[in-house]
Amino acid sequence: MSQQGYVATPPYSQAQPGMGGYPAGFGSSPAQPLYAHYGGQPQSFTAPPTGKAAFLWSLIPPVKSNRFYPTGLILSFGKCVKKNKVIVRLHSCSVLKVVHPPLAYPAGPGPMQSPQAPHTSPPAQQPFQTAPPPTMGHSTLGPPPTGPHSPQMAHPQSPLAGPSMGGHQSMGGMGRPFPGPPPPGAGGFQQPGPGAAGQPGYPQQPQGTEAQLPDHCKALWICRASFLESDEAYSLNKTWLSGIICTQVTEDDQAKRGGQVYTTNLRGQVPPLVTTDYTVQDQGNASPRFMRCTTYSFPCTADLAKQCQVPLGAIIKPFAKVPKNETPLYVVNHGETGPIRCNRCKAYMCPYMQFIDGGRRYQCGFCNCVNEVPAFYFQHLDHMGRRVDLYERPELLLGSYEFEATLDYCKNNKPASPPAYIFMIDVSYANIKSGLVRLVCEELKTLLDNLPRYTHNKHTSTVKVGFVTYNKILHFYNVKSALAQPQMMVVSDTAEMFVPLLDGFLVNFQESRAVITNLLDQIPDMFADTNESETVFAPVIQAGVEALKTAECSGKLFIFHSSIPTAEAPGKLKNRDDKKLINTEKEKTLFQPQKGVYEQLSKDCVSQGCSVDLFLFPSQYVDLATMGDVPTHTGGSIFKYSNFQVYTNSMHFLSDLRKDVEKAIGFDAIMRVRTSTGFRATNFFGAIHMNNTTDVEMAAVDCDKAVTVEFKHDDKLSEETGALMQCALLYTTVSGQRRLRIHNLSLNCSAQLSELYKSCETDALINFFAKSAYRAMLNQPLKTVREILVNQTAHMLACYRKNCASPSAASQLILPDAMKVFPVYLNSLMKTGPLVGSAELSTDDRAHQRLSTTAMGVEDTQLLLYPRLVPLHNMDFASDVVPAPVRCSEERLTDAGMFLLENGRSLFLWLGQACPPELVQRVFNVPSLAHVPADLSSLPVLDNPQSKKLRSIIDSLLDQRPSAMKLLIVKQKDRSEMLFRQHLVEDKGLHGGASYMDFLCYVHREIRQVLT
Ligand SMILES: [Zn+2]
Repeated sequence: MSQQGYVATPPYSQAQPGMGGYPAGFGSSPAQPLYAHYGGQPQSFTAPPTGKAAFLWSLIPPVKSNRFYPTGLILSFGKCVKKNKVIVRLHSCSVLKVVHPPLAYPAGPGPMQSPQAPHTSPPAQQPFQTAPPPTMGHSTLGPPPTGPHSPQMAHPQSPLAGPSMGGHQSMGGMGRPFPGPPPPGAGGFQQPGPGAAGQPGYPQQPQGTEAQLPDHCKALWICRASFLESDEAYSLNKTWLSGIICTQVTEDDQAKRGGQVYTTNLRGQVPPLVTTDYTVQDQGNASPRFMRCTTYSFPCTADLAKQCQVPLGAIIKPFAKVPKNETPLYVVNHGETGPIRCNRCKAYMCPYMQFIDGGRRYQCGFCNCVNEVPAFYFQHLDHMGRRVDLYERPELLLGSYEFEATLDYCKNNKPASPPAYIFMIDVSYANIKSGLVRLVCEELKTLLDNLPRYTHNKHTSTVKVGFVTYNKILHFYNVKSALAQPQMMVVSDTAEMFVPLLDGFLVNFQESRAVITNLLDQIPDMFADTNESETVFAPVIQAGVEALKTAECSGKLFIFHSSIPTAEAPGKLKNRDDKKLINTEKEKTLFQPQKGVYEQLSKDCVSQGCSVDLFLFPSQYVDLATMGDVPTHTGGSIFKYSNFQVYTNSMHFLSDLRKDVEKAIGFDAIMRVRTSTGFRATNFFGAIHMNNTTDVEMAAVDCDKAVTVEFKHDDKLSEETGALMQCALLYTTVSGQRRLRIHNLSLNCSAQLSELYKSCETDALINFFAKSAYRAMLNQPLKTVREILVNQTAHMLACYRKNCASPSAASQLILPDAMKVFPVYLNSLMKTGPLVGSAELSTDDRAHQRLSTTAMGVEDTQLLLYPRLVPLHNMDFASDVVPAPVRCSEERLTDAGMFLLENGRSLFLWLGQACPPELVQRVFNVPSLAHVPADLSSLPVLDNPQSKKLRSIIDSLLDQRPSAMKLLIVKQKDRSEMLFRQHLVEDKGLHGGASYMDFLCYVHREIRQVLT
């Protein structure tokens, strides 16, 4: 078998026996599949097939219905309306210094040296293996690169040998090791106690030095020390790494496939990378913008799948934005009987249906059932057996299209209504004082002109709007267009929430503009003198659901909230943050939402099609894990602005709000993924709810939300027919029409694992790993989760090596070409806040990141795990070209440089100490770096090429990303640089975690362990 893959030769020798702790012999596959099962006993960790949501729901007894509907007017108004005027009176109502060991290499290529030469401890027993050609990134199909090249020699002081290695200073602020096998009985952090040395994965460490290190640094030190102890010659080698540099791979793909038209006519075709700029032409398979798979060639049998442990998954973003130069989806109407579907499996008419019998019948591509063609749909076949109307029917020709749904697809067989947006503003002391309430009210006056609308109805939106303010009690507003003044109605009984008015609460903005503007003008003043600092939260969501129920529509709640809800009411929360739990068995409890009220609320929301978007402005802990529970089960989003100040944060917040209000979205959605025989969807991740094992319910799904689906074998798959999948999403449009959005995708199947590895999509894989790890951390210690991540990675790569690569020395690290940057993503994932286990990070921030990732698409996880670091100082300011990103490593920063770094969440402009004053002058309009204000949140508008180009780069980034990002100006060596540096994912993590190079070495060792 020819070797396909990237061969890298780290210049160190064999791993020691006994390291790693994997079961011996990879070939004998474990009794249980390891992937997607977090932990030794799969049954105890695996989410039930219905997904987490369903698991949670099942614990809740059903509630009696209608309990929130008092009949008659027994409404407990605290204050009411007088002469149509709103009555305004409320009821009482050590920065650790981090030194990154430089990964710098000799500047020039220098003379090619024999790798052994400069090292004091050459790997005598191991002949040095040649490195790949210097320009890696192109597939290295064929034999491993051999020849006269010796690799360019590494830095004379490898991080392992240099002073930074043993030095206390360099270890400060970092240190979580690669997850090794758990020491027996040791919970929490992997610091081996006395006697732990010598355990698998914890080689003996030098005595004496450990004591100088902070606790959380020790294990990494041990891991590194092991290389020295075993007398391995260990050096960093630039050439070795150069082939597996993320930015090189993305750049190569851009060069190869960028700017091209990607036609989807081939089964099992691997799309361009998400970072590549391409145009899609739908010719029978869904665009990769809608569906991306972890591999485009499924293994034929479950045994093969188990052997390679590559998860079989698809990341589906049903409403992904389609660029202007691509065709929007066609809408098909099959008349009053509704879309044509297979009688047996209910798959919708699609290009995989085979017409036979002169066009009178068709065979379903998913279940093989032969169906009659309805008379109205009959068409003759041509000499090729194709329907002659093929090119007139999107559903026979395209991967993605929509059907108009009939009444059968509507709730209670009644036509759907347009959705409503309800704005719910916390008017407690904190929000009034910060100026937030005024800011929101001002913004809404203009923002509501931009409510989403369906294209054929361009002038006005059919989306209705409503307004609620609250602290301990709720205030509803009647903003009926006929009123001269808005009316307020107060509900103080938050235990039994109801909506005190039917008519006038949800209105058309255009019609009620005057009353609404009046209201928005008054709200900040009405509560200006409030002393109320307590808030409720669950009753607010309940009120929103009840309002939508009453109006018989779906919709979205925009909640602007500041504090942990401590007022006496359902869903009251208390501070349960406890840093002592970090790195213990109980750490997971920090991320588990409080059960009870919020679970039931999510369920109520989903059944009403009520999505919840939470804008949080906390100044301290708010139990985000619980407060974010409803948004993350209803297709909603959580936005968090800690210590909000109007001056510094309003731009960030307002652009988030604008994007959120305006974005394309569908409501009251239910998604089903059908597959051809032999495999099926078994596991789902996303901002979703599941009542059974197959139907993915989403109160709403917008253009940024994705659902990650895992597939498992039922049976053998056939190479001939491949693996087909059809995602059908039933939803309500913003104008109230019921639609079915269909995405079809066909993959190859192969009995050769090499095909699977060749067709892998690393960006999709890491999305799957991130979501499954973030789910697993609710049930397992982080240490175990991290171990499983590495374990599975080592198995995937070892299986490739064993089955697909030609025999080679064990010292060679051989990676499948399509997965060669996977380790850098995985390492970055393990260093993310949720998985890193550091007491320096806020629990709410970690919970926030965990929940936000749940619904991310492939583009977003890729960017999050490998931020773009763009050098700006040398670019051609006259051209439109944006410089290519460089490796996310300190090594790439230069004192005279200016860099932009962004990951979709944060945006930094980093200024080197020796940044040219002319450039600083032109960008900031100040004479020197020292004069650049630290709290600048946007660049001044200046009329020069440098300023213009920089602003245009930033603007275009902000435009592309789902959420807004606040620009942070960071000067080299300033305190704030820490924030920036934690995104340099190839370096050692500030809060723990290895550098890329160290991680590769570790993974390599694990692979070798698996193979022995
Ligand atoms: Zn069928």
